[in-house]
Amino acid sequence: MDNQPFIEAYQEINSRFIKLLSSMSALRALSSFEIKYRNEDEIIADSLAVLLDYHELDYVAIFMYEEHTLKQVASKCWNNDEKHPPSKYNGLCDRHQDLLAQVENTGEVQQINQIPGEEFSGSASAIPIHGSDTLMGVFLACHPGDEFFSVTNERNLVIYCNFLGQMIMNNRLLHSMDDMVSERTQQLQRALNEASELKRRYEELSIIDELTQLHNRRFFFPETLAGLAQAIRYKKPFSLLVMDLDHFKIINDRYGHVMGDEVLRGIAATFKAEIRDVDILARFGGEEFVLALPETDERGAMIMAERIRKKIKALRWQAEGREISITLTIGITEFENCSSQDHVNALDEMIQQADQALYHGKDNGRDQFNTYSYIACLMDTGEQAK
Ligand code: GH3
Ligand code: MG
Ligand code: MG
Repeated sequence: MDNQPFIEAYQEINSRFIKLLSSMSALRALSSFEIKYRNEDEIIADSLAVLLDYHELDYVAIFMYEEHTLKQVASKCWNNDEKHPPSKYNGLCDRHQDLLAQVENTGEVQQINQIPGEEFSGSASAIPIHGSDTLMGVFLACHPGDEFFSVTNERNLVIYCNFLGQMIMNNRLLHSMDDMVSERTQQLQRALNEASELKRRYEELSIIDELTQLHNRRFFFPETLAGLAQAIRYKKPFSLLVMDLDHFKIINDRYGHVMGDEVLRGIAATFKAEIRDVDILARFGGEEFVLALPETDERGAMIMAERIRKKIKALRWQAEGREISITLTIGITEFENCSSQDHVNALDEMIQQADQALYHGKDNGRDQFNTYSYIACLMDTGEQAK
């Protein structure tokens, strides 16, 4: 009996089985790629190395679309790192552009099974790489043998290319999602920054007097209470000045509100120029201002008050061809004069005392400062005289 046909059939089945196994091993290797941390070029280059490891290929290359044109992005020879096909494939080289064009036109596998007329013959197969339903690129494989790309070989390579295409697609999706997430994160960060800037601006607006740009009461009370609490705790002097412009109403009445505003701004700028960083200055209302002086006793406060009074008196404005000036009356007190040791009550007391000293000055010719201790003395003497 002639066993030859069985042996040949067995060898054929065996060879197909080995190819199938190789093909599955190549797929397994491809599927184990970690795509998250790699870029597309790395995935493509590694996929070619896997193909050469598991298939009997001689030269492989991948062409991907860049701006609607197929460009070679990777290539590999089984025994070296050459970018171009070995010279033995020169004949093929001239024709592989045609092969690519045919794949682009048909979307199907194209082959050259023989390269006639060449010293060296061989075969080539160009396989489309699809991602979802779009043609993303073409895979080109060469083998030195004629008719190498049998139905089985071709089918295995098609499966590999489909798998690769899906992988590239997933990688692109993953990276575009990453880009989207990081862009959204940046947008969110920008919005947060803007919101906190707005918040800061509104907070500032709520404690700043718009006309004079001085702080208002909302700022003055917590700041002064904190300063006063410290002064009480560390037994340091703390003074308070209440300052009111004299006959300011006349300026408004004679020259108008706009002129009155300009005077208020000029007064505020002068106050600011005269105080220290630690002093707490605020517009208390209308043409009344308050100044808290940490670490300053009544004597220091008097020196400060006199300096401010002179500066304000020296200011000049022009209105309707006339020179305008204004004076200021100031009431002074210090924590020493308070009966309360509690900073909240003490501040109330100090404001009342400074007000009393201020009104004493208003009643006695204005353009002056008085201390609460002085008028308290006068009041005592008055009481005793009765
Ligand atoms: P006195 O010496 O007794 O303090 O007299 P005065 O005129 O300064 O005080 P009075 O309380 O009679 O008038 C204060 C004026 O200040 C009345 C009010 O219209 C004016 N005023 C308050 N706030 C502003 C402001 O923001 N701009 C202008 N232009 N005037 C203001
Ligand atoms: Mg006034
Ligand atoms: Mg007033």
